[in-house]
Amino acid sequence: MRQSQLFTKTRKEAPHDEISKNARLLIRAGFVHKELAGVYAYLPLGLMVIEKIKQIVREEMNVVGGQEIAMAAIQRKELWEMTDRWDDTNVDVWFKSTLKNGTEIGLGWSHEEPITDMMKNFVSSYRDLPIFVYQFQTKFRNELRAKSGIMRGREFLMKDMYSYTIDEAQHQKFYDSTIQAYLKIFRRVGLGDDTFVTFASGGAFTQFSHEFQTISDAGEDSIYIHKEKNIAINKEVMSDTVLADLGVTIDELVEVKTAEVGNIFNFGTIKSTQLDFKYINEAGEKIPVFLGSYGIGITRLMGVIVERFSDEKGIMWPKSIAPFHVHLVSLCSDVTDIKKADNIYQKMLDKGIEVLYDDRADRIEVLYDDRADLRPGEKFADSDLIGIPKRIIVSPKTLAQDSVEVKMRNGNNIEMVTLKNISYK
Ligand code: ATP
Ligand code: MG
Repeated sequence: MRQSQLFTKTRKEAPHDEISKNARLLIRAGFVHKELAGVYAYLPLGLMVIEKIKQIVREEMNVVGGQEIAMAAIQRKELWEMTDRWDDTNVDVWFKSTLKNGTEIGLGWSHEEPITDMMKNFVSSYRDLPIFVYQFQTKFRNELRAKSGIMRGREFLMKDMYSYTIDEAQHQKFYDSTIQAYLKIFRRVGLGDDTFVTFASGGAFTQFSHEFQTISDAGEDSIYIHKEKNIAINKEVMSDTVLADLGVTIDELVEVKTAEVGNIFNFGTIKSTQLDFKYINEAGEKIPVFLGSYGIGITRLMGVIVERFSDEKGIMWPKSIAPFHVHLVSLCSDVTDIKKADNIYQKMLDKGIEVLYDDRADRIEVLYDDRADLRPGEKFADSDLIGIPKRIIVSPKTLAQDSVEVKMRNGNNIEMVTLKNISYK
């Protein structure tokens, strides 16, 4: 993509009311637009990152046998009444509305109830199970505080998966494979070393749950960890019994701030009983279906990644989810040099390289007088802010030596590489 065609521009300042580091950087670099507190729009570069994260998650959900669907955001009140989750005293994040005919509806903050109810249409016998379904969907939650940028949205993207199994044993097998799939996802997006599985209390509606907590100063949770023994305990459930069970003392553990990037729940048969979702087993008996629920906050994950991989100059995307792999920055201004830079760009496109081409100086002279003299320093500052992993600089100086300069975003080393030897990777 040519940067001259990108409608977003970088900004020196973030909005004054935006205090979180992730949102400040993402807004300044042109990845997101703030609509209101906790509500963000995703711009071309931001959407590219979201799509990359989604694709990694999708691949791993498919590996464990998930089938992708898309439920509706508008939900029926009756279903949530059957499970006692409609009342605002039980669920305090509902956005509710009323149809013209007076019917009350809710905007989905989660989807266990409608998906489980829908499944009644497709499951009658044990032969129809297990079923694993997932979706990427905008969730609506009327969060009390939204001060963590895209890490806590009032409208945010979640991957939610639901498992329907015949019994606890079948459920447990899938639950365990999902833990592994989640850990793989967090490794693939660059957070492997910082993410821990913790046991958590499931709250009133579930039997138990596990959380995936990533070390982050911007997080709202706390866990105790023991890196060598690979132990992580949620602060909420910490007790002498838990310590004894794990065979550690409190002095051996370190407390760290974390953000919950994923969460998996075992609902057992509670919800299917409430919603009357049953199947006929081999003995011909009607039995409630076993339910599990598995979330990953896609936009929160993006925020955590920005918090983790950034410096005073801007973002430093891990390659696996960067909007582009290469930022080709041209400092050329005369026609012959521009043609050479264009050639390098074209060659990269031919080789299938994901490249953002900062071609601005030449075109901008013609199109916008006020931007005619974009200095190299400004281009580099933009490039640092946007955070593409590899920068290739082509300038009159490098071309005089039939070369380009190559610099990684997370390093200081600048390497001269001849045009013949450019690695198109
Ligand atoms: P939290 O304790 O942070 O409010 P939660 O327990 O309400 O999270 P779940 O209902 O389990 O979260 O949602 C699944 C995942 O969705 C979470 O693990 C988190 O990554 C993400 N998530 C939850 N709330 C938000 C939000 N307001 N904005 C962005 N992501 C969120
Ligand atoms: Mg919550």
